[in-house]
Amino acid sequence: MQRRKLVAGNWKLNGALASNRSLLEALRGSAYAGADCAVLVPFPYLAQAGEILKGSRVAWGAQDVSEHDAGAFTGEVSAPMLAEFGCRYVAVGHSERRALFAEDDATVARKMAAAMKGGVTPILCVGETLAEREAGQTAAVVERQLKAVVDGPGTALFAQAVVAYEPVWAIGTGKTATPDQAQEVHGQIRALLNRWGVEAAVVPLLYGGSVKASNAASLFAMPDVDGGLVGGASLVATEFLDIWRAAAEAGTR
Ligand code: PEP
Repeated sequence: MQRRKLVAGNWKLNGALASNRSLLEALRGSAYAGADCAVLVPFPYLAQAGEILKGSRVAWGAQDVSEHDAGAFTGEVSAPMLAEFGCRYVAVGHSERRALFAEDDATVARKMAAAMKGGVTPILCVGETLAEREAGQTAAVVERQLKAVVDGPGTALFAQAVVAYEPVWAIGTGKTATPDQAQEVHGQIRALLNRWGVEAAVVPLLYGGSVKASNAASLFAMPDVDGGLVGGASLVATEFLDIWRAAAEAGTR
């Protein structure tokens, strides 16, 4: 089954109105029809992203969402708000949120449900630390993170979600998983989803962790790697566009 490839750029805590404009305008002017593309920008820049990208092939979204829709939750941003700003995607459970902001598996699963309910496609991030990989726990960690969705809001969520496998040791470190390492875990994720009764063949599985123009094609060539979640390289227009092009070329082979 041919799934459409997707590359999503995670800007993290980066950006300013002027530099965003040149980056977004460079993306808007490009179109690789063979793959989808999105940018996940800090909340204050959603309006700017929407204004510049509207009508282009590039979607936009956010990097986090509240599990709540409204109420006394100071500092939070809800899925209905993201939807109002035209967000197509939102990352949930990024490893930086898990590690630095103490988000646990159950919270991440609730955020995923909130995003879906609000009409925004969640990109659920999972992945092991270096210590966990070295202890042979990669599959168990990823299963635990995914299982929180099964045990919480339920497996039905996966049918309309994106899952991103992001080994923590590869994020922002310049160390990329080899295509075989990525494929191995992606294959395990797809098998798990199937075991839980999800039609796993339709769920896009992205790889994230130091994806660059120079390694994108070999990662995207793997049968269960449906694109990438790209951090640092998404801040450089030429680099991100080359990654998008690699996804489009892999997607049309
Ligand atoms: C990320 O932020 O999700 C990420 C994968 O970052 P980087 O590409 O910089 O490793």
